[in-house]
Amino acid sequence: MKALVLAESLDGQRDLCAGARQIADEVVLAVVKGAPQTGIADKAYDVELPEGEAAENAVAGVQAVYDAEQPDVVLIEPTPRNKILGGMVAAKAGASVISDVASFDGDTVTNMYFGGLAEMKQKATGAKFYTVAATAFQPGEATGTDTVETIAYTAPAKALVLKGTKEVPREGADLTKCDVVIGAGRGFAEEADLQMARDLAAKVGGELGCSRPLAENVDWMPRNLYIGVSGLNLAPKAYFALGISGQMQHMVGVTNAETIIAVNKDQNAPIFKQADYGIVGDLYKVIPALIEKL
Ligand SMILES: Cc1cc2nc3c(=O)[nH]c(=O)nc-3n(C[C@H](O)[C@H](O)[C@H](O)COP(=O)(O)OP(=O)(O)OC[C@H]3O[C@@H](n4cnc5c(N)ncnc54)[C@H](O)[C@@H]3O)c2cc1C
Repeated sequence: MKALVLAESLDGQRDLCAGARQIADEVVLAVVKGAPQTGIADKAYDVELPEGEAAENAVAGVQAVYDAEQPDVVLIEPTPRNKILGGMVAAKAGASVISDVASFDGDTVTNMYFGGLAEMKQKATGAKFYTVAATAFQPGEATGTDTVETIAYTAPAKALVLKGTKEVPREGADLTKCDVVIGAGRGFAEEADLQMARDLAAKVGGELGCSRPLAENVDWMPRNLYIGVSGLNLAPKAYFALGISGQMQHMVGVTNAETIIAVNKDQNAPIFKQADYGIVGDLYKVIPALIEKL
């Protein structure tokens, strides 16, 4: 069985190649505009995209890799650019992409539906294209050669014209790398009160993240730090959910956390169904008490 990994970030390349190795004998990596890492796949392709060209215009290069390799399965790192490119190649193969795959069991995959509200087990009919995060696989080593082939740019007949780009500001720690993450939710009444969560984070060697409303509704936290189906997917050793109700869209971002500790004043909050340790109480009293005890 051969897997083609279409990845973009350095971590995505390495982690998806390591995961692909668990389901395939042969692993091929394709990276658009950016040197592919070596030593993590049996062969890597550097798909060229000239400066100033929209990512979508690299589709002929990705298609060339697919045609040359004829993979049994395509694993796509779910970045905006790769979702489009993977979707275009899948469409040409007469297939649809199965998105947000959370686990594999042979040919059957489990993926998330309705923004993470439901899960479904399904088998691809025809070509197999999956968008998948590294957390769908057991941790493992990526191995491979330093063979890299360059695919020269071929402009599409009707190319998209890129009018401009704008850097998205990124702030705070890379939560995907943290062993301990503190998640702050709407239970905090004021932005300044988040200092309590930061103090707890400092005490336990963790970093602060949040639920989506804190990043999108009130702008108290940067958007790159919210956790959940449309945010970060984390696998920390410990996740503290402070004043977070535990809606499914948030919790799918921490299903791979080893231990979840929740603080919520409502004993019926859904978070307690998933928490390993739950404290029913006012976070304004519980957090200072925790900091004092730890
Ligand atoms: C398509 C879609 C995608 C989404 N994606 C995401 C996502 O990726 N990530 C995400 O987080 N959300 C996402 N959401 C939103 C999600 O459905 C929830 O609305 C959100 O997670 C709720 O955030 P919260 O738990 O902070 O707030 P709330 O649901 O308002 O919960 C606040 C909690 O704090 C508790 N509380 C209040 N005061 C105190 C106190 N003093 N002490 C202790 N506890 C207190 C309350 O009991 C309550 O349980 C998405 C929604 C949709 C529709």
